[in-house]
Amino acid sequence: NRQIILSEYPKGMPQAGHLPMREGEMPSPKDGQVLIKTIYLSLDPYMRGRMSPAKSYAASVELGDVMQGATVGQVVESRLDGYEAGDYVLGFGGWQEYSVQGKEMLRKLDAKQAPISTAVGVLGMPGFTAYAGLLEIGQPKEGETVVVSAASGAVGQVVGQIAKLKGCRVVGVAGAPDKCQHVVDVYGFDACVNYKDDDFEAQLKAACPDGIDIYFENVGGKVFDAVMKLVNDFARIPLCGRIAHYNDTEAPQGPDQLPAFLTKLLVKRILIKGFIQFDYAHLMKDFVRDMSSWMQAGKIQYQEDIVQGLENTVDAFQGLLEGRNRGKLLVQVSED
Ligand code: NDP
Repeated sequence: NRQIILSEYPKGMPQAGHLPMREGEMPSPKDGQVLIKTIYLSLDPYMRGRMSPAKSYAASVELGDVMQGATVGQVVESRLDGYEAGDYVLGFGGWQEYSVQGKEMLRKLDAKQAPISTAVGVLGMPGFTAYAGLLEIGQPKEGETVVVSAASGAVGQVVGQIAKLKGCRVVGVAGAPDKCQHVVDVYGFDACVNYKDDDFEAQLKAACPDGIDIYFENVGGKVFDAVMKLVNDFARIPLCGRIAHYNDTEAPQGPDQLPAFLTKLLVKRILIKGFIQFDYAHLMKDFVRDMSSWMQAGKIQYQEDIVQGLENTVDAFQGLLEGRNRGKLLVQVSED
C-alpha cells in the first residue's frame, strides 16, 4: 500500500522532500468498516492549509501521517452493512492506494448516473462551493456583471456557468491564453482576461463597462486589487479562496492599504463575506437536484485534468499552486 506522508511542514512551495512516499501496511477493515482501493485522488488548494501548523478551520495533518484528501474508490472488502465489494464510493481516503473507512465520510456512487470522478468535481465539493457561494452570498440578479478569478478551475468554471444561467454578464480572470479561450468557448463566459498580461487592468475595465456587481474571489493578489477599482455600489464579494497567498512566507511590503480598503467598503456599501462550503451543508440537496438537472440538460460543461500515478501527486499539487492544471485536478491512482 503505497502512501504519501507529510514529513515536514513546508515553508513556501511544498517539495517532494516534505511529502515522501513510503510502503505502508495493507489495512484490514474492522466491524463497521470497508477496505477501499483508491481510483481517483482529488487534489485541492485547501490541502496547502493542512500542510501548515497554523490554526485554521480544520486541523493540520500531523507530521508522519498520510496526507489527507477526498477520494473516489471501489470497495474491496466490506464489514459495513449496505456496502459490498465492487461498490463505488466517495470517501476521504487520503494520498494512498488503499484505505479503511467507516460510514461517516462514505457515500455510495452510481456510475450510471454520472462519471464517478465528478463526485469530487462538478457534482462534488468544488461544484457545491461555486453554487453556495455565488447564490447565497453573491445573490446574482439578471443583467448584473459577475467577475470570477481562477475562472478555468474546478470552482471558477462552475461559478461562471451558474451566473450565466442567472442571466448575468460573466467575465473570467485566468492565467493563460488557452484557459481564457476555453472559458469563453466552452463555458460561455462573455469575456475572460489574462491577469499575466501587462495591460490586464485595462482589459478588465474594458470587459466590465458597467462596473462589477459580484466578484467571486478565489485568488487575492493583483487580481483582487484590480477588481476593487471597478466595483459598484452594493457589490457582493463571496470570499472563497486566496490561492495567490497560500505559499507566502512573509507579509507584503509597501504602504498599509487597509484603511483605504475599509473606507471603500463603507462608502460603496460592499458586502464581503468569507465562507467555507460546509457552512452551507443545508443547501446540498438543492445543489444535487439543480446541478444534476443542469448537467442532464447540457447546460453545464466541465473539464477534468487527470494525472496518472500516485508517484506524480506532489508534482501535480505544485502545478495546482502554479496554475499548470487545466480544470479540476485529479490523480488516477488505479484503474477503474
Ligand atoms: P483550481 O482548479 O482553480 O486551481 C487553482 C488555480 O488557481 C490554478 O490553476 C491557477 O489558475 C490559480 N492560481 C494559482 N496561483 C495563482 C496566483 N498567484 N494568482 C492568481 N491565480 C492563481 O482550484 P479550485 O477551483 O479547487 O479552487 C479555487 C479557489 O477556491 C482556491 O482559492 C481554493 O482555496 C478555493 N476553495 C474554497 C473553498 C471554500 O469552501 N471556501 C472550497 C473549494 C475551493 P490560473 O492559471 O488562472 O492562475
